[in-house]
Amino acid sequence: MNKQFIPVNTPFFSGNEEKYLLECIRTGWISSEGPFIKQFEEKFASYIGRKEGIAVANGSGALDIAIQALRIGSGDEVIMPTFTIISPAQSVVRAGAIPVLVDSDPVTWNMDVFQIESKITSKTKAILVVHIYGLPVDMDPIIELCNRYNLKLIEDAAEMHGQTYNGKKCGSFGDISTFSFYPNKHITTGEGGMVMVDDPDLAERCRKLRNLAFEPKGRRFIHHELGWNYRMTNMQAALGLAQLEKIEDHVLLKRKTGNQYNHGFQGLKGYQLPLDTTHYAENIYWVYGLVAESEYLAEKTVEYLNTNGIGTRPFFWCMHEQPVFRNMGLFKNESYPAAERLARNGFYLPSGLGMRIEDINLVIKTIKKFVDLDSKLKIKQ
Ligand SMILES: *Cc1c(COP(=O)(O)O)cnc(C)c1O
Repeated sequence: MNKQFIPVNTPFFSGNEEKYLLECIRTGWISSEGPFIKQFEEKFASYIGRKEGIAVANGSGALDIAIQALRIGSGDEVIMPTFTIISPAQSVVRAGAIPVLVDSDPVTWNMDVFQIESKITSKTKAILVVHIYGLPVDMDPIIELCNRYNLKLIEDAAEMHGQTYNGKKCGSFGDISTFSFYPNKHITTGEGGMVMVDDPDLAERCRKLRNLAFEPKGRRFIHHELGWNYRMTNMQAALGLAQLEKIEDHVLLKRKTGNQYNHGFQGLKGYQLPLDTTHYAENIYWVYGLVAESEYLAEKTVEYLNTNGIGTRPFFWCMHEQPVFRNMGLFKNESYPAAERLARNGFYLPSGLGMRIEDINLVIKTIKKFVDLDSKLKIKQ
């Protein structure tokens, strides 16, 4: 039983990570006051093409700040995809606003942009896009809607470091855009995130909300609104800065992994592969997902991979089917068939930056073996 297990994610450190971290310890700068914070914020903002970056404790906190900074609150509606991680929906609901959901495009797995306009009401304040798994949302129609209806645009770019939409960096589109630096993202700080804006007043407001809503001027310890402690530490920023120096390598590596899987799965029956290219972007394969043709097949595949030492994760679960939101009375009788299919039949394979080529080939071989066994069983039946 000494078999090796291939985990869904393995982080990758190939640059100055150790050097910069040691510098934190040797200089004693470990808190959010340390010098790496500003360097990381400035370099990442400049890489994405934004005026300001506000480093925070995680990507979910970045979304909390985005919603509150734009003064979205009680009774306001925010249009967003049902197929997403819970973070953006949680930020909207916590602020007292209502998520208004949109189904997925069955091929790109992103929100179906053509279903947005019919959801706009007099209460709509913002459209919140979440780029899913490596391909960006089709932004042009959304930007057009935001302009026409005077809506704010929030962009959750947590899976999109280095990705572009029509040549322009993801994370540069929103009034506020957010990133996460969790260890499975294209660059990591262990835990961490960044809020991106261009407007200096909005930047100041985000900085304030990150730091317990301390007023930038006047008597300290007097507060006019509630914030959070979402500060990032200098050690996280040290890691982030080193990772950022390698970001182009990381994106290339991820694309290579995605292409190796695509190549290996050519002609594979029973599963939908991720879309490699659209007219506006090339997939960066944040994770490499498969969508089985049935929920049963997905379960059996995952089980087989797991007993053969290969880690997987199921896809996100839709927001309209979350018990926590249903118990609040949200999304009653709503259904979004394309997103439900993704949630039930989708899972992703090991696709971390630290993965070896041999491991990818082993995963491909194992899936093909399962498909062979499965088709033999079916013939016998
Ligand atoms: C990872 C992720 C987040 C959450 O980031 P954390 O840093 O884990 O809080 C938010 N949105 C999306 C789309 C993500 O993929």
